[in-house]
Amino acid sequence: MPQFDDDWPGNLRSTELFPKLASGVPGVLFIYERSADGHHQRYPFVSERVRELFGIDPADLQKDGERVFSVIHPQDVAGVAASIAESASKLTPWQHQARMRLASGDYHWFESDSIPELQADGSILWFGQFNDIQPFKDLEFSLRESEAEFAFQAGFQKLIARLSTDFITRGFGNIDESINQVLEAIGEFFGVDRAYLYRFSEQRSEMTNTHEWCRNGVEPLIGSQQQVQIDTFAWWHGQIDRMIWENGVVFIEDVDALPVEAAPEKALLTEQGVSSMFCVPVRTRGVVSGFFGVDSLSQRVWRIDQADLLIIVSGLLSGALERHRLEEELLNQSIRDPLTGLHNRRYLYPRLDEMIALWNREGQPFVLALFDIDHFKVVNDTLGHLAGDYVLREFTGILLAHTRATDVVVRFGGEEFVVVFSATDGQAAGALVNRIISRVRVYDFVFEGQNISLTVSAGVAAVGDNGAADPTSETLIGEADNRLYLAKEAGRDCFANASGPSRL
Ligand code: GH3
Ligand code: MG
Ligand code: MG
Repeated sequence: MPQFDDDWPGNLRSTELFPKLASGVPGVLFIYERSADGHHQRYPFVSERVRELFGIDPADLQKDGERVFSVIHPQDVAGVAASIAESASKLTPWQHQARMRLASGDYHWFESDSIPELQADGSILWFGQFNDIQPFKDLEFSLRESEAEFAFQAGFQKLIARLSTDFITRGFGNIDESINQVLEAIGEFFGVDRAYLYRFSEQRSEMTNTHEWCRNGVEPLIGSQQQVQIDTFAWWHGQIDRMIWENGVVFIEDVDALPVEAAPEKALLTEQGVSSMFCVPVRTRGVVSGFFGVDSLSQRVWRIDQADLLIIVSGLLSGALERHRLEEELLNQSIRDPLTGLHNRRYLYPRLDEMIALWNREGQPFVLALFDIDHFKVVNDTLGHLAGDYVLREFTGILLAHTRATDVVVRFGGEEFVVVFSATDGQAAGALVNRIISRVRVYDFVFEGQNISLTVSAGVAAVGDNGAADPTSETLIGEADNRLYLAKEAGRDCFANASGPSRL
């Protein structure tokens, strides 16, 4: 179009005008040529901007286009070549994204956009541009990241909500099962290999692994982590102190990078295959009573907000443990007598029912003895109530000294006690009861310098006595009570059983 040349501003000729226009475009304008056999490539025209962007002289590209491949990211080279080949074979627009190395050394995403045109000699010319699309990529990445982050947070909230409801609905007595479930859920969620709970001893000199979850194929450590002396590990000791006194968390991203003073810890963790770990204190009664932790067998980076999430988990565990402790305490209060520390009758009945069931099922005998201190009222009346309390506690000691852990010893009421001798027949029980009665007779009860002489009587009922077909806790206790009355009638300081009162 030479006839227009003189009309262009500045009297530019069109051949000069085009490169000038092209140099003002943010991307790179180009004509790309590939020979018919595909062996030669060059850029008959490429805007001056390639020099600024990639440090490539446009004159070089006019001779040989290969140079462009040297700034394409190694991982993207094959894709670029394939996309050109496809555009060439189908003569469809060449549109492709790849990372290209800038003159600064950084890689940016570029997009090519060009239209192929088959020439008479079989070669192909593409007319188009390269554009820096890094800002769009950045936006896309950050959107994708925040979407993933949102999904992660939402997933975590759901998990915690589910676990807390589990703790509430599961109720008393299933604490271990609940904790194991929390450990598993958290272990899976964070993609770790182990999740565990440790408890410190009263003096905090030892720690014991109480619960552990391991990913399939990961070796459990709980067996070897019982009553571990904390002193053995000076560095760890320091970390525990930080947990206790500063409510700190311990996290090790890379066991290999532990400081020299942590050599024993490093050796142990290495032996356990642990590469990275994270521990958060757990508290009951407001003090640190242990810690919750996760292990990863491969090195990993803990994002600080993930640390916050693990702290939430430890809060959940603390709450559950605290609730469990309160429930146990309440239960204990309701089934224990505060004066003697013995169980009370609320505890007796279910235990009796169990033993009756065992007798029905397996014929295992047991014997119930109801003891009543003789003339106990006199102790109260002459020496005072505190002397009476003292006698009750001493008598408790005598009962416990003459019974086994499998027997049930209960304060049944005022000065009445029940002993259920387990796996014992009537004859053996008679001897045992008599030993207790004899012991009380000779025992030195001394309260505030005053000697107190005491005796005790007992009514004894063996399960299945008199061929009773269907004993219940009520009939057994009723029988023992009747016989206690007989023993009192017979002069006290003795017991009565199915054969009546007897003094062995
Ligand atoms: P018996 O030989 O017939 O059993 O006469 P007893 O005096 O032992 O029997 P009684 O049932 O008349 O008196 C029991 C007394 O035990 C009455 C009650 O005040 C007293 N008692 C009940 N509980 C306690 C207690 O916790 N502490 C003290 N000190 N006394 C108690
Ligand atoms: Mg009584
Ligand atoms: Mg009495």
